[in-house]
Amino acid sequence: MKIQKIVAGNWKMNKTLNEGTSFVGKMSKLLLDIERTKVIFCPPFTALVGMMEQLSGTTHGLGAQNCYWKESGAFTGEISCSMLSELGVKYVIIGHSERRHVFGENDELINKKIHSAVSHKLIPIFCVGETEEQRKFDETQEVLEDQIDRGLRELSNLGDLIIAYEPVWAIGTGLNADESQIEEAHTFIRKKIQNNYSVGDSENMPILYGGSVNPKNANSLISTPGVDGFLVGGASLERDSFYQIINKVEQYSKE
Ligand code: PEP
Repeated sequence: MKIQKIVAGNWKMNKTLNEGTSFVGKMSKLLLDIERTKVIFCPPFTALVGMMEQLSGTTHGLGAQNCYWKESGAFTGEISCSMLSELGVKYVIIGHSERRHVFGENDELINKKIHSAVSHKLIPIFCVGETEEQRKFDETQEVLEDQIDRGLRELSNLGDLIIAYEPVWAIGTGLNADESQIEEAHTFIRKKIQNNYSVGDSENMPILYGGSVNPKNANSLISTPGVDGFLVGGASLERDSFYQIINKVEQYSKE
């Protein structure tokens, strides 16, 4: 089965509800000619409900940037997966490098979040990736292996899980990983999924690349073997740049 290409925009802590709904309203018109690529918007929590209304009737998806694994209770400031799924949110980013490095999330917590998301029928966009230091010391594969083993521990069924390979040193730096680094990492991740699960699971699982994707590099990055789409940060905040990236992926899918 051929994997549908995906472009997900991670807005991080950017755009208010009004800004988000107005962006997506205009963007939906531009996206009318996008038929093969799955576009996912991941705004801050506060914009989810409003954007859901804007996106109803379109094929585009809505994702949250985080979740907590407990159902309810004394967890001030947290949002559970049942709260998200009640809104109609379909995806949730888990293990983003900013959650790992700024907020100190570890693999154990990430694993609990993934279990919770899957049990609520949310599709995790599970982020993995090495730091600059780890790459320098040739530890990339070891890091990816560990993050996958620990993050997916005791998850017997992957469902529609998406993995995003996001080298930490490439996020928000303007310095994307090159095609050979990406191909190597994606091949490694797919092999790992094959070993831990099955050939079918590895062949059906989308692996996105994330890290300074922009309209200029999108063409060559999407043509890199093993790349099923992108997780885009900075360039997803501007209509033109996000559309151009999506359109490049769409054109590639038509080839
Ligand atoms: C991200 O936040 O997941 C990301 C890839 O950011 P950027 O595209 O800005 O590097």
